[in-house]
Amino acid sequence: MADHLDVAVIGGGIVGLAAAFQLLQARPGLRVAVLERESAVGQHQSSRNSGVLHAGLYYPPGSAKARFSRAGKTAMERFCAEHGVPVARTGKVVVAVDRRELPGLAALEQRARTNGVPVARLDADGLREREPHVVGVAGLWSPETAVTDFGAVCQALARAVRAAGGEVRTGVEVVGLDDRPSAVRITTTAGDVAARAAVACAGLQADRLAAMAGDPPAEQVVPFRGAWLELRPGLRHLVRGNVYPVPAGGLPFLGVHLTRRIDGRVWIGPNAVLAGAREGTRPWSLSGRDLIEVIRFGGTWRLARRHLGVAVGEVWRDRVLRATVRAVQRYVPAIGLRDVRRGPWGVRAQLVAPDGTLVDDFTIRASGRVLHVLNAPSPAATSALAIGEDLAGRVLGRLDG
Ligand SMILES: Cc1cc2nc3c(=O)[nH]c(=O)nc-3n(C[C@H](O)[C@H](O)[C@H](O)COP(=O)(O)OP(=O)(O)OC[C@H]3O[C@@H](n4cnc5c(N)ncnc54)[C@H](O)[C@@H]3O)c2cc1C
Repeated sequence: MADHLDVAVIGGGIVGLAAAFQLLQARPGLRVAVLERESAVGQHQSSRNSGVLHAGLYYPPGSAKARFSRAGKTAMERFCAEHGVPVARTGKVVVAVDRRELPGLAALEQRARTNGVPVARLDADGLREREPHVVGVAGLWSPETAVTDFGAVCQALARAVRAAGGEVRTGVEVVGLDDRPSAVRITTTAGDVAARAAVACAGLQADRLAAMAGDPPAEQVVPFRGAWLELRPGLRHLVRGNVYPVPAGGLPFLGVHLTRRIDGRVWIGPNAVLAGAREGTRPWSLSGRDLIEVIRFGGTWRLARRHLGVAVGEVWRDRVLRATVRAVQRYVPAIGLRDVRRGPWGVRAQLVAPDGTLVDDFTIRASGRVLHVLNAPSPAATSALAIGEDLAGRVLGRLDG
């Protein structure tokens, strides 16, 4: 016999956990369960990221990313303070290495101001004052950029969901979704569940969950692996906070940057190369199903054609350590090849349209009783509590309506 819930949240990453948390904050007593197929929460994107609480500089004004990152960051900092998760406001500089990058820096400054994000323009001296080992002709200082450990945030969210009366069921994979007029029937590896509503926050499996519910999107999740280099411990003083290049136009990835993590380690990267598996256990894991889907999807080829030069450069930097080091030496010349080693990696879920466009903004789609979070790339970890609040509002609206 199926057990009965008000809301089933599929996926125990940071977005699913935040949705469950916000549902219970808004409506204590609601029967909510998070269904996560791994043996612990936050095992995929949510713990394999840069750990940056983005202040919201980059995102198109009015976009969901712009709105949710601002509100989400404030909520996340408050949540972390209340639940004992460390946050450090280390700030960030975006560096224009030469004069050709000044128009890009000015455009970024303008966008930050339009988004209401505090930034200050730095000249070469100001840049040196903030980051003594960084060289460039100018910079943009974002004092509000911070770092945390999103894996620890997931643990804290899971505890908070349980403390509020919700359930977090791990080792439970959703394998079927039947959206009926009376309830959503969810088939899992641990038995059936009936829910009045469901929220699918399945990250790298988002499009498959939508297909499972009988509403396959035209877009497809394409996995992009991001790998970091790690600076050797003796040189961590070279970077005080976050150091980013001026973003190259047209792509949502932010270029080779340096992040001083909450534990003091300094990571360089991540890059972005097509991954051979959505949820592999090693950087070079291959999944037949994932590969065939990527190859069959016309959007992949159109994307590759459009950004061939960038793609080749990313693969080159992925294989040749020296190439990444050279990219970072442009603005931190003191870092040499001997000072880095290969570090961790993670796989991004990136929704791609059939015409090869990378879907930039967060994408949430309703289908019957199920809300699907189809695209939650960076800064979705920063924004999770705001996305969760939005999802909770939509679900409760439906339950009440
Ligand atoms: C390299 C990299 C760097 C990043 N840096 C940053 C950053 O600095 N700042 C930032 O804000 N964001 C960053 N991000 C983005 C951020 O990590 C993601 O946007 C965020 O973690 C997405 O969370 P999620 O819950 O949607 O997905 P996930 O964390 O992937 O969670 C999805 C969950 O669904 C589960 N699941 C899937 N299918 C099923 C099923 N059938 N049944 C049950 N469970 C299922 C999975 O096991 C998984 O736990 C980065 C991401 C990457 C990869």
